[in-house]
Amino acid sequence: MKIYISADMEGITGVTHWDEVDHNKSSYGQFQKQMSLEVAAACEGALEAGAKEIWVKDAHYSGRNILAEILPKGVKLIRGWSGHPYSMVQELDDSFDALMMVGYHSRAGQGGNPLAHTLSSSKLDSITINDRQTSEFFLHGNIAAKHGVPLVFLSGDVGLCEEVLEVSPGTTTVATMVGVGDSTISIQPQESLEAIKTKVKSALSGELSNCLWDHPKSFVVHIRFNKQQLAYRASHYPGAELFDPKTIAFTTKEYDEVMQLILFVV
Ligand SMILES: [Zn+2]
Repeated sequence: MKIYISADMEGITGVTHWDEVDHNKSSYGQFQKQMSLEVAAACEGALEAGAKEIWVKDAHYSGRNILAEILPKGVKLIRGWSGHPYSMVQELDDSFDALMMVGYHSRAGQGGNPLAHTLSSSKLDSITINDRQTSEFFLHGNIAAKHGVPLVFLSGDVGLCEEVLEVSPGTTTVATMVGVGDSTISIQPQESLEAIKTKVKSALSGELSNCLWDHPKSFVVHIRFNKQQLAYRASHYPGAELFDPKTIAFTTKEYDEVMQLILFVV
């Protein structure tokens, strides 16, 4: 079994404030360690389920958060950002048997996490694909679907776990916390590690094809920006058009073109 793990930070157990996910701030170290431990727990669960190869993408901010020495031996770690449109799942292809997401978070405009956002919170209001509000989970889960890779496991806030249940009912989830306004109510960090390891192991031991998504034949994308100037500029991307003063529209049959659009206009 060859496994891909994409790890973000805003859905790591206990994370409540932007300072805690910013490497320039003193409270970051505690959550950097917890993120590394949660990814390690997912790797250990995968190894116990028989994984022979594990790739981890550090997919938060600088892409340089995970403490590599905490991960089990043999794991490949992708650090930094290559500039490839697959972004948080760079290098994912048909050769993988399963995708897992750790530390993921609610999308922009959702109440489930004080740090809820989608990609750039300073530029973007929202992205919809075929009329569904898009989170980072949905955006990157569709890349896996294109390659026939099932999304087997996700950990993150309760709001996101509810979205996963709607989109991908076969996927196993661990809810690390619930957001209430600008606060969070979290499970105990050690408990979180145990739940991630146990649930990853059982998820990978089950029927993985239950976690495969249907891949639509075409994609209608609307990107709503915070400022009309950004939408006007983005409307000059080949194939994009201005839908309203703050929103561009783009239609394609090829999902890679959705990710290319996002790479260049967001
Ligand atoms: Zn992040």
